[in-house]
Amino acid sequence: MARGRKHRKQFACGHQGFGQTCQTCALKRSRRDCEALNLGRHRRDRQHWKESFADDPINLRGLPKPIVRKARAIIAQLSQGKPYYQLGGKKLRSQHNMIRIPVTRNYRMLCQQIQGKVVPLQVMSHEDYNPIARNTRR
Ligand SMILES: [Zn+2]
Repeated sequence: MARGRKHRKQFACGHQGFGQTCQTCALKRSRRDCEALNLGRHRRDRQHWKESFADDPINLRGLPKPIVRKARAIIAQLSQGKPYYQLGGKKLRSQHNMIRIPVTRNYRMLCQQIQGKVVPLQVMSHEDYNPIARNTRR
């Protein structure tokens, strides 16, 4: 009855394998740990994302993530002194101290020029922006 050392045996869990412990269960455990870790990371990311809005000079809550990112990039460039027209910004026709800067095709950042500085006021969708532009033109 000579058998090799690699004798497949049945573990208490019901799996079959070699060695002292069940590798199938060990693998399952490590996968579970990995998933728990990823879930934790995901929660932390979400928490961090929520908290990041406190640092914005204007309210960007509720906007789609890519819009928020783009808006923050514009705010950073303005604060570094980049001229609004280099960001595609234009003055409103009726209110020359008001500037709109395109965030994306569908979003605008409304800014006010105060003592030569361009101060962001609000990011709004194209639909929300249009009535304002019409009203100020009267
Ligand atoms: Zn097992």
